[in-house]
Amino acid sequence: MSEAFVLDAPSSVGGCSTAPVLRERGQREVFCGLTGIVWLHRKMQDAFFLVVGSRTCAHLIQSAAGVMIFAEPRFATAIMEEKDLAGLTDTNDELDRVVDRLLARRPDIRLLFLVGSCPSEVIKLDLSRAAGRLSAKHSPKVRVLNYSGSGIETTFTQGEDACLAALVPQMTEAPANAEPSLLIVGALPDVVEDQFRRLFAAMDIARVEALPARRIADLPSVGPNTRFLLAQPFLGDTGRALEDRGAVRLDALFPFGAEGTTDWLHAAAQAFGVDELKFRAVVAPGRERAARALEKVRPALEGRSIFFFPDSQLEVPLARFLSRELGMVPLEVGTPYLHRTHLAKELPLLPGATRLSEGQDVDRQLDRCRAARPDLSVCGLGLANPLEMEGLTTKWSIELVFSPAHGFDQAADLAELFARPLNRRDRLSDAIVPARPARREVAPCS
Ligand code: SF4
Repeated sequence: MSEAFVLDAPSSVGGCSTAPVLRERGQREVFCGLTGIVWLHRKMQDAFFLVVGSRTCAHLIQSAAGVMIFAEPRFATAIMEEKDLAGLTDTNDELDRVVDRLLARRPDIRLLFLVGSCPSEVIKLDLSRAAGRLSAKHSPKVRVLNYSGSGIETTFTQGEDACLAALVPQMTEAPANAEPSLLIVGALPDVVEDQFRRLFAAMDIARVEALPARRIADLPSVGPNTRFLLAQPFLGDTGRALEDRGAVRLDALFPFGAEGTTDWLHAAAQAFGVDELKFRAVVAPGRERAARALEKVRPALEGRSIFFFPDSQLEVPLARFLSRELGMVPLEVGTPYLHRTHLAKELPLLPGATRLSEGQDVDRQLDRCRAARPDLSVCGLGLANPLEMEGLTTKWSIELVFSPAHGFDQAADLAELFARPLNRRDRLSDAIVPARPARREVAPCS
């Protein structure tokens, strides 16, 4: 058995589980939850997302999802005009008319989300009542649900969390004596979900379902015999809603990299009584493939320092993956929300000297980033250009959510996302930029 196959519990190198957390409450630089529609509409094939918002919201969603321009779109914006905002029209009547027209024109829609925005929240448009009214009118053919994608006090991945949490009450009740089932929670690309399903099938875990389902008719049931694995660390509300329905969350690392994927699969194997030897045999080929592929990317990343601005909520698991499997040195790991329960296995695996921060105060974070001069800064689009202008190399955090990144077969692609900007900078620096500082060592636990 080579090193790559040792499946013992991951050992901590110091860890940040009890380290002090810098809490920031200042100006924020993040996208809003409407962005999630870009990947959610790909996953839910008979759903339509109707944003109830302003022209700004329409521009955001249109440019973020510009790839849809040649397809029959599955999202749109019901634009609120000034007279709506001023209360001069009955916005509910307008909304009903828009929905009636949409459903008449698009008989393929089975699930309609009314997606709230900053303007609809500011005028306190009650979209949950609107969804109830419209659902009663258009059921059983179409279900109408609502969630908020507003950018007021939220970050962009919360759009997916709010959307999935809205689906949980729609799941039917599984009886107490139902066959145990495993629920994968998070909008994974189909190809990645299918890879995981094959691995679970090879372990003889018979009932595996996903939230969201690809079609609303396939929405699984939920009950005390449901065990669920979060595929994303930003699904706090969804996790809580499932637990309120009796489901039990399996504690695991998130499935990024060989180590995270192994631990995530292992949590399911243990919960379903899969024999340890069988589990090892099932995961060994994928784990070995991932380890081999990561070795090729490692030279580009090893010893390089990285600074995460708080944005996607993926920061902690990604920093764990990059430091443990690729030798990167996380200087600061900022995250919009530090969900200690869901990150309980992740935090002890971060190098002890890593500074953890929660929330955002963008000017102070920029100052710390400039002082640290990391080799790579992971941030939102709004910060990337200014930092590049100052000679810092950046990675857009939103790309990490758009790209298939989970599982053994995507581990090297995920690493590549971080290596690419560094390689580009190296090539440029050969020509025009002075030599970079020497690479850093992982700091020991202090
Ligand atoms: S929801 Fe708010 S933050 Fe998002 S595009 Fe609309 S106005 Fe802007």
